Amino acid sequence: MSADCLDVVVVGSCMTDLVSQAPRLPKAGETIHGHKFFIGFGGKGANQCIQAARMGARTAMVCKVGKDFFGDNYIQNFKNNCVSTELVKQTDEAATGAASIIVNDAGENAIVIVAGANMLLGDEDLQHAWPVLSRAKVLVCQLEISPDTSLQALRMAQQRHVKTIFNAAPAIPDLSADFYKASDIFCCNETEAELFTGSAVSTVEDAGRVGLELLKRGCGSVIITLGPQGCVVVQSADATPVHVPTSKVTPVDTTGAGDSFIGALAFYIACCPELSLVEMAKRANLVAAISVQSVGTQTSYPHRGDLPAELF
Ligand code: ATP
Repeated sequence: MSADCLDVVVVGSCMTDLVSQAPRLPKAGETIHGHKFFIGFGGKGANQCIQAARMGARTAMVCKVGKDFFGDNYIQNFKNNCVSTELVKQTDEAATGAASIIVNDAGENAIVIVAGANMLLGDEDLQHAWPVLSRAKVLVCQLEISPDTSLQALRMAQQRHVKTIFNAAPAIPDLSADFYKASDIFCCNETEAELFTGSAVSTVEDAGRVGLELLKRGCGSVIITLGPQGCVVVQSADATPVHVPTSKVTPVDTTGAGDSFIGALAFYIACCPELSLVEMAKRANLVAAISVQSVGTQTSYPHRGDLPAELF
């Protein structure tokens, strides 16, 4: 990998999803028969990186997996998606992050997440990644690894004027003010925005109001995603919230739509810098709208060739 040619670097999580479909969720101590099992690739960091790579961005993932079957498998998945794995480390101190998911016939689920190796990503790994990170166009971080590691990565990137996208998910209470200051673009969904501000977000207007409140905490811009309603963009240059609607589609499975949106946004920021942020958000909406029309997380993410030419 040539260190000076990367568009998007993601410092974040990898999770293997172990999904069992069963007629109902088992009670404590009970064993039941399910009717289908599959293994999926997930983790917010990896999802976002793979969506950016599928759109044509030159990407690298900075993450930690176990020295186990799932870790080997995940590294192969990155390679299959043309993501550089030079900065993917394997550890024998913890297992690859895993989510054991049971889905019943009513579509309800019970999930146990064990972050495992993800929580061991730290300072040493970031120092090792510095030559690549400091020359990338965009860094993307989330909160599925240690928050201290995410914050350190964002600060390191800002030092070199690498654009930072911080997807504040999953939300943690009392998010440090430092995260806002280290974010060129602070992205979250409506539920996360509610948790950060304590204000209900049930309309586009609410999202605009809450977006302005988050902007005042020190980030460059705020994007709040609103599912089928698209998103709201608030920028410091013009602190008037802009609603960016999306196309009406029939969703089949919205899992990972937020990550598809962020991955696409990272692609546009790195590879189409001439576009306005609102136009980038509009196009990222359309990419994510495609992802909700098929089943699975990464399996539903479109490749560049699947997308209309107007999106590039
Ligand atoms: P998830 O947790 O499932 O990854 P999220 O809650 O983080 O998603 P959402 O706000 O639900 O994120 O969706 C992210 C983006 O995906 C939206 O801004 C929109 O562009 C697109 N999207 C989601 N649901 C739909 C839908 N039903 N129709 C069209 N686009 C959708």
